[in-house]
Amino acid sequence: MKNDSVNPTFSFKDRPACVAVSKALEFGSPAVGCASTGNLSGAVAAHAAKAGLPSFIFIPEGLESSKITQTLSYGANVIKVKGTYDEANRLATEIALTSNIAFANINIRPYYVEGSKTLAFEVCEQLGWRPPDHVIVPIASGALLNAIWRGFRELEIIGLIEGLGVRISGAQPEGCSPVINALLSGSDQIIPVESPKTICKSLAIGDPADGYYALEAIRKTGGSGRAPNDEEIIEGVKLLARTEGIFTEPAGGAAVATLERLAEDGEIDKDELVVLYITGNGLKTQESFSTSLPRIFEIEPTIESFQSLANKIQMPGIKWLEGV
Ligand SMILES: *Cc1c(COP(=O)(O)O)cnc(C)c1O
Repeated sequence: MKNDSVNPTFSFKDRPACVAVSKALEFGSPAVGCASTGNLSGAVAAHAAKAGLPSFIFIPEGLESSKITQTLSYGANVIKVKGTYDEANRLATEIALTSNIAFANINIRPYYVEGSKTLAFEVCEQLGWRPPDHVIVPIASGALLNAIWRGFRELEIIGLIEGLGVRISGAQPEGCSPVINALLSGSDQIIPVESPKTICKSLAIGDPADGYYALEAIRKTGGSGRAPNDEEIIEGVKLLARTEGIFTEPAGGAAVATLERLAEDGEIDKDELVVLYITGNGLKTQESFSTSLPRIFEIEPTIESFQSLANKIQMPGIKWLEGV
């Protein structure tokens, strides 16, 4: 697991956003902006705050409230566009092309994507300069997957790793899986999803800007992909939390569920060194889990009350001191 859910703004988006905002400062831009599926909003707003620049954050309808609260707290101008991410992104693109505002993922996107290469660099470094055999990457616009692929290749070119044979597999939610649909149907054509329907808000890009490159990277490296449904995604979140103590958002659950499916389908070799990218934090998406968790226990503030609960839920190995 590459756990990228505990960065300063609690997703991997700190990596591309910090490069983008640094470039905006270098160019003398008067303000920064982005179109966001949720996590980029907080990252751009936080890095803009630190840089002393105003920010304009374009979001679609229906984002998780924690992500909006976080973004507003950094002093950002948050603009909710009535529509999907693709509509918010189209508007932001028009503004980016007709103003001198530096939009992290639009007019300064070439710099923005560089930041995510560190997710390939760090994984190789943490594995003792050994490249993994297989990585699983969640896909929204496809930028992250491509940056990771490029990061691995650049490390090989400069000689810090040898024998790169990494397979790159993608994860998208069933309700918004244009890249995985093309991949699994053997097509070169990515058909945009007009209205994404998934709890994975951060992956809900119906018309992914770098979708073709992501598809190419997956095919070239001999990778694969799956598009688990929301139920499997929530199970993936819970499995990771229960077994590793990492609480991720649905995008991370999509990666876990994809790994599970690929393993079941024999697409993962027993001996492969597999790295799963966990890209966001579950605390930002609490509403996604509200109906799928066990209820909490409520008791009187007495020892008897707890003892009767303990008896009911049968905690193995627990003993009570007699006569105390
Ligand atoms: C943005 C995001 C991704 C993928 O982003 P790309 O647009 O494909 O670069 C993955 N996981 C999370 C949690 C994200 O916020």
